[in-house]
Amino acid sequence: MSEERVKTYCGNCAKETYQGIEYRNEEVEALEILAKDDEKHKTESMWIPGFAFWQVSKCLGCEKLTFMHVLKTSHDPAMDIVSYFPKYHLRPVPEWYRELPIRYLEILKEVYTSIHHGSFILSLMGSGLFWTCLSLKRSGIKERSSKN
Ligand SMILES: [Zn+2]
Repeated sequence: MSEERVKTYCGNCAKETYQGIEYRNEEVEALEILAKDDEKHKTESMWIPGFAFWQVSKCLGCEKLTFMHVLKTSHDPAMDIVSYFPKYHLRPVPEWYRELPIRYLEILKEVYTSIHHGSFILSLMGSGLFWTCLSLKRSGIKERSSKN
């Protein structure tokens, strides 16, 4: 591990922490972009230069590793495509979820997994199922079993 330290996202702590750099690499690559001309109904292929940045760092708090990949296609940092493993947590799982019965806990856990992977439509469908099941339980109405 190098002596260099950076503040970056830790998948285990689910927040930014100070981390030591274990591995870092950069590469320039050509990226294909498909553009569609609506008037001519024609798809054209264009090649643009891209810059990829790879980093494995170790959290100075929990000592877990985090992998980060950044793909730059312009000078604007807002346009960077940044990926983390373990995944970046857009929303932390609420502490009260541990108090739920196992059936509801599993549904809510999958909802948060889909949020963390950017599957927002799937997470919305799961949230609807979660609240429907919980409302039925609280109102005393029995859910249909899969055998019916
Ligand atoms: Zn950590």
